Amino acid sequence: MGLSSAAPQGGCSRAGCREPATWRIDWRNPKIHAEDRVKTWLACDEHVEYLREFLASRSFPVRVEAFEATDAAPEAPLRRDAVPGGEGA
Ligand SMILES: [Zn+2]
Repeated sequence: MGLSSAAPQGGCSRAGCREPATWRIDWRNPKIHAEDRVKTWLACDEHVEYLREFLASRSFPVRVEAFEATDAAPEAPLRRDAVPGGEGA
């Protein structure tokens, strides 16, 4: 298992969005990806639901988790009113 599962650095994966990511979306396309090949997108609060639905609508396995940007020191306190893992399956 030499593949790194590290999330990409930067912000939201939504095209044109430059917000810092607060969520990571791990997903896989069963048609072209092997069982252990997982792609990771990052998303801001506004687009996490859009991206998750985008993948879920294609019947891709999707997992959403809170993303901690440990390398960046945010200037403003992070909003913590969203509950990670509280959305169900
Ligand atoms: Zn975004």
